[in-house]
Amino acid sequence: MSSEQVFRLNHWSLQSLSANPVLWLLMLLSLPAAGLAQQHFRGDKALEITRQFVAIGPRWCTSPGHLKAEAFLRAQFKGDKLEEDTFTANTPIGPVPMRNFIVRFPGKKDGVIVLTTHYETNYPLRNIGFVGANDGGSTTGMLIEIANEIRGKVLDGYSVWLVFFDGEEAIEHWQGTDHTYGSRHLAAKWGSDGTLGRIKGLLLADMLGDKDLDVQRETESTPWLSGLVLQAAKNTGHAKYFFAKEQAEEDDHLPFLQRGVPAVDVIDADYGPHTAEYNYDGWHHTAQDTMDKISAKSLTIAGDVFLESIKLLNQK
Ligand SMILES: [Zn+2]
Repeated sequence: MSSEQVFRLNHWSLQSLSANPVLWLLMLLSLPAAGLAQQHFRGDKALEITRQFVAIGPRWCTSPGHLKAEAFLRAQFKGDKLEEDTFTANTPIGPVPMRNFIVRFPGKKDGVIVLTTHYETNYPLRNIGFVGANDGGSTTGMLIEIANEIRGKVLDGYSVWLVFFDGEEAIEHWQGTDHTYGSRHLAAKWGSDGTLGRIKGLLLADMLGDKDLDVQRETESTPWLSGLVLQAAKNTGHAKYFFAKEQAEEDDHLPFLQRGVPAVDVIDADYGPHTAEYNYDGWHHTAQDTMDKISAKSLTIAGDVFLESIKLLNQK
């Protein structure tokens, strides 16, 4: 199109607009969408990362899939400040090597906001091909995409650290100390080196990819931090997905809570149909926890709320 044609088109457009109030109104209505649209977290990208991660297959501790999951995480954080926190867990099947991944994005304020998930799959379900698309997969994809959105930006507030815990799931049965190996190890380590005192808030993401997202208020969590998450949900227009129900969860936030760190478990444990066929626990810990049960929309909602929570913690 030549510039002369552009001029003629503009001239024509202005004449028609001045003569047509409906066109003016339409133009004004379209302005906020073009200029002031709120930038949402890219749940579609988080879902795609999740798809690639889950395609590895089962990734229970000691499996070849676990090694591939480790390599996958390593590849996501090339060039970042990545720490691999390795340890040996004493489990009912003997010593098991485990590996937490910690990624650090430094901020200007003294203090740390920690976002966490677990990434491995359930060991007792190793014989049914359990891939944990939602349980471990979805929130791993979400945290990786949060890193992608933070990377390269100057953080005026607190530092943001991402932690991918290993060994959240039981090796035999969820009882005694047969669970949350990675978080218990890291909480103890950060307790003895003084890191815990620097943490302003720890958010745990769990099972947030569920297509039918309804996040429960987890009753063990630090009340003011739960309140902050709800406020973040309100600020981003997602309040209807949050805290209609409440329940207590044993999860990776507890070892930190027990050491006085403000911590919240942002979890949707209500996943799939609660019928006898699914042991009344839906798709949780079944072979049905697959990619078709999770959505980009739910990850957008969860990502929006996590990013807004960082903002609110910085304003506190
Ligand atoms: Zn699980």
